Amino acid sequence: MKFNTKAIHAGQNPEPTTGAVMPPVFHTSTYAQKAPNDHQGYDYARVGNPTRTALEKLIAGLENASECAAFSSGVGAIDAIMKTLNPGDHVISTNDLYGGTYRLFTKVFEKYGITFSFVDMTDLSQIRNAVTAQTKLIWIETPTNPLLRIIDIAAASEIAKKAGALSIVDNTFASPYLQQPLELGADAVMHSTTKYLGGHSDVIGGAVASSNHDLMEQLRFQVKTTGAVPGPMDCYLTLRGIKTLHVRVQRSVENAKEIARFLENHPDVGELHYPGLKKHPQHELASRQMKDFGAMVSFSLKNDSMEAASAFMSKTRIFTLAESLGGVESLISHPASMTHGSIPKEVREKAGLYDSLIRLSVGIEDVDDLIDDLKQAF
Ligand SMILES: *Cc1c(COP(=O)(O)O)cnc(C)c1O
Repeated sequence: MKFNTKAIHAGQNPEPTTGAVMPPVFHTSTYAQKAPNDHQGYDYARVGNPTRTALEKLIAGLENASECAAFSSGVGAIDAIMKTLNPGDHVISTNDLYGGTYRLFTKVFEKYGITFSFVDMTDLSQIRNAVTAQTKLIWIETPTNPLLRIIDIAAASEIAKKAGALSIVDNTFASPYLQQPLELGADAVMHSTTKYLGGHSDVIGGAVASSNHDLMEQLRFQVKTTGAVPGPMDCYLTLRGIKTLHVRVQRSVENAKEIARFLENHPDVGELHYPGLKKHPQHELASRQMKDFGAMVSFSLKNDSMEAASAFMSKTRIFTLAESLGGVESLISHPASMTHGSIPKEVREKAGLYDSLIRLSVGIEDVDDLIDDLKQAF
């Protein structure tokens, strides 16, 4: 099956008792058993729920994975992955990382004896040089947030394999429609389903998909034991959202390309970050690794001050000033104070994330209206 068909049908069958085409929302905490341990595959809803199973099968299908585990949030999924490690283990990750992931790594897992190296992963030699005998995981987030740098998934996964470590890709920014990490050699892929997969800014969720059965068994153990599970209604909303993933993402990307062209020619724009631009440092890699260039665009103003950026963001009317991304509506945000506020200023600036940077999540509105909105804000 091709992707657009899988987005609607992968792992989905009409419900057997009624023929309902969409999976029912199974609001139950427990399941009747005929005799102790004689049940129909479900015993307690922390461990499993049929609505959740339908969602997991769909995401596994989209990522070409044999298995998937859904979580109550993206960070819940990352937390479960990290708990498969042991004190003394070492993780390599990018210095341009989603703020919540950085906070989880440094404020929670360092305390339990896991060590981290944050390097510029667009430079493969920096990844190689960071490998130690204790390295167990290379955590890849690409495109990066908010500077939209591109990390070579195939090459980074190869380094992980040689080091005897796992490579796991946070595929939230690209979505499985644009990027297929397992096909490129990664061991597992993680999503904040809150973003493109859900697609309508109405639900929080996470997922991990992989064909590494041993890893997935460990994650199932985490699901059962630490319980960061999504409710059935959240699973249903995410499942419903995924059915239009390919249509939404394609339109968002088309809009983002026009907006990038508009910003490229605007006299008040300083730096512009979009992987679809020929002058983007990893444009060639993005063309190879992704089906298209994504719908996130970030830029700074020529007037490189916090005040100018703040004034701009208060003026947009269609672009809503809010955290998050990947919904049908366009959002504008200020990474330095919002999503990346938990990263110290020196660390942020070392990675090139300045206070004047503005990030756009481009939605599927009419692009003329979006460009007019930016024009009047300038
Ligand atoms: C939002 C996000 C997360 C965290 O997901 P939540 O669902 O908000 O917990 C992780 N990684 C990236 C790239 C994100 O954008």
